[in-house]
Amino acid sequence: MVRTIVGANWGDEGKGKITDMLAAESDIVVRFQGGANAGHTIINDYGRFALHLLPSGVCSPNVVNVIGPGVALDIEAFLREVDEVVSQGVPQPRILVSERAQVMMPYHIAIDCYEEERLGKNSFGSTKSGIAPFYGDKYQKIGLQLCQLYDPDVLREKLAHALDIKNALLEHLYHKEPIDLETLYQKMTDLAERIRPYVADTDDYLMKAVKEGKNILLEGQLGTLRDPDHGIYPMVTSSSPLAGFAPVGAGVPVWSIKEIIAVTKAYSSCVGAGPFTTELFGDEAEELRKRGGDRGEYGAKTGRPRRVGWFDCVATRYGCQMQGATQVALTNMDVLGYLDEIPVCIAYELDGKRLDRFPVTPKLEKCKPIYTTLPGWKCGTRGIKRFEDMPENARRYVEFLEEQIDCPIRMVSNGPRREEMMFR
Ligand code: GDP
Repeated sequence: MVRTIVGANWGDEGKGKITDMLAAESDIVVRFQGGANAGHTIINDYGRFALHLLPSGVCSPNVVNVIGPGVALDIEAFLREVDEVVSQGVPQPRILVSERAQVMMPYHIAIDCYEEERLGKNSFGSTKSGIAPFYGDKYQKIGLQLCQLYDPDVLREKLAHALDIKNALLEHLYHKEPIDLETLYQKMTDLAERIRPYVADTDDYLMKAVKEGKNILLEGQLGTLRDPDHGIYPMVTSSSPLAGFAPVGAGVPVWSIKEIIAVTKAYSSCVGAGPFTTELFGDEAEELRKRGGDRGEYGAKTGRPRRVGWFDCVATRYGCQMQGATQVALTNMDVLGYLDEIPVCIAYELDGKRLDRFPVTPKLEKCKPIYTTLPGWKCGTRGIKRFEDMPENARRYVEFLEEQIDCPIRMVSNGPRREEMMFR
């Protein structure tokens, strides 16, 4: 059976934890889009890991982890992360990297940084991992597939062609040093050798695995609202984090996907720029930020404070719908136990009119939240193992959200550790 785990919102919903938990009962975990730009935090018996590029199954020794062709493959980041995981005591993970995956180049990262600098206050809040220039090149057809790194003539020719464009940008737009072809060629050849043991025809591997009825998890990065088509364009990422893209970016047949698990937090959090209707500021925000996640709401990749706010039913209903979610996992329920009452955004107000549907970005920027307030439960809930044993107001909170987002909430997470999970 193939299951997809995706974010219903802006990312950082806790997908890593859900994947790590479900990985324990899976054969294969696949990353299908994005790159080393996000972070998935997982906490299990080996310790705490902030994974960026590796699939969240790396801590389960029986799992084969696959980096699909849809991923932005930063080879250095990949090798570094494998070393880090192993140095924390995890047995050498089994990883296959698609020979079709395209390779993040040093100029992608450089241009991402220089472009954000150039944009100044209009910057996108990029993590500066090269993602936008990388996907730009992929679709402009000047990217390099991993397999092309093993053909010296092709590699040299492709690099020379790319550098014609990149060096013009570097020198004349950003006023930086150009990149030397020979140095880059040598670097990429070295990296290609180091990653060689992991390279595979993952399409073939996964097709066979699907036929054999293996349990496969497809792990998304970020969330619906960062999708280039259905998100808050242009404050989006450059590859689709939608479950609809999962079979493409992973390389499995569409029909094989039986479950789509959309992950959402019991409140909202958002890293990066863009409209965020229920955003909190001041002391209220600071309190929630401090209590959220496993160590406060700070970006796993950048350490930046995450923007936080109340649960947004309009955004999450839309987020689940565009994912085609068959069920929802609600994380961070334990975080809200300090509140007397909890505001929940049930609709937006736009130009004096009520809006129940998540609008396009120019309209969203003008929307104000309409809140209803639910009673809090004023106690810690970590350690509670069954949903039925949760305080009544906590159960009511979950039931209310479920009705609003129109998708069954089957998992409720009340702590960052793998085993802190209740099923409904
Ligand atoms: P991802 O990118 O969707 O995998 O999310 P992140 O890992 O970046 O962010 C989720 C944060 O919430 C991390 O700090 C997790 O450790 C934490 N987390 C996940 N589930 C829970 C939970 O139920 N309770 C608490 N307190 N933290 C959680």
